[in-house]
Amino acid sequence: MIKTLMRPWVFFVSLQLQVLAGLHRFRAYARLPVPVLLSMGVLMAQVTVADPGTSDDGVEVNKTPKTLFVIVDGIPADVIERVNTPGIDAIASKGSYQRAYVGGELGMPTESPTVSAVGYMSLLTGTWSNKHNVRANYGIEPNYAFWDIFRVAKHQAKVVSTGLFSTWTDNRTILMGDGLEAAGGYKFDFVADGYEKDPAFAPGVEDVERIQAVDLQVTTLAAKTLLESAPDLSWVYLQHTDDIGHRDGDGPSMDLAVRWIDARVSELWSAVQARGQHFANEDWLVIVTTDHGRSSSTGKGHGGQSDRERTIWIASNSPRMVSPAERSAAIVDIYPTIVEHMRFELPDQIAAQLEGQSLLSQ
Ligand SMILES: [Zn+2]
Repeated sequence: MIKTLMRPWVFFVSLQLQVLAGLHRFRAYARLPVPVLLSMGVLMAQVTVADPGTSDDGVEVNKTPKTLFVIVDGIPADVIERVNTPGIDAIASKGSYQRAYVGGELGMPTESPTVSAVGYMSLLTGTWSNKHNVRANYGIEPNYAFWDIFRVAKHQAKVVSTGLFSTWTDNRTILMGDGLEAAGGYKFDFVADGYEKDPAFAPGVEDVERIQAVDLQVTTLAAKTLLESAPDLSWVYLQHTDDIGHRDGDGPSMDLAVRWIDARVSELWSAVQARGQHFANEDWLVIVTTDHGRSSSTGKGHGGQSDRERTIWIASNSPRMVSPAERSAAIVDIYPTIVEHMRFELPDQIAAQLEGQSLLSQ
């Protein structure tokens, strides 16, 4: 018992010193240094009280659930299945890989454009565009009545720490209305975004290569934060593959971009695995997915309702994911999956609005 108590303490004190020593770096990206420090304190308290082992009466203490979900933009299922992706394969080898769909139900009110922000919002809210009201990447007016998953996290009676690591700042400021009263007024505990809008970041690098540099930066900071602080619920969003798809379409260039972004996923997975080695009480759910497929003709476009545009995929480390033979998964199923894994309490009106169902089998 002493051993299990000591190890996390020693490790965590060491992390605290590292973080304090590198605080200027946190300040550079977190933008909210005080909440970051406060949440570190909260996490420290959680680690010390939620230590694994048995209680005095011999009952096993529940593990602490953690979730990381990753969106790698615009990779068709046939491409991810053909290209060598050891990072995503390593995650799926612990759990599963399956095809899924976006775009709602064809010909029904839920039918939704196979467009990036629409897909993100369907994942974030567990609803289709007729509810969340995001139908394009611009002129966005989300309906915040459909709570995003991070708002649910912050609504819990228990403290739930959150992280967002994103190449597109609008994910936080617009889709989730970070800090807006209409969207619940909550703030993320850890944030790495804003680089694509910051002229001081990667000056002299332009267009696709600049966004690739942002992806790299976001991944580095996400992996560091996952390893050191392990927010309870984190989202990493990476864009490079969609840029290459739009520019070059199907072909070797897109395949290379997929392999590059797979290496970023591998960095994140390594951080989660390192976490697991030091904190046996953490129960990690990792989900990697994409937001839409691409056109069959060239692979450059998307937005329509063709099979290839509607078909996405979900890779997860969870051995509990339902078999594709049982039912077809949709992007809106990820929200209730996270809710179940994190043991979140959902307000009745939010639960009643959801379109999907959990992918975790019993
Ligand atoms: Zn996209």
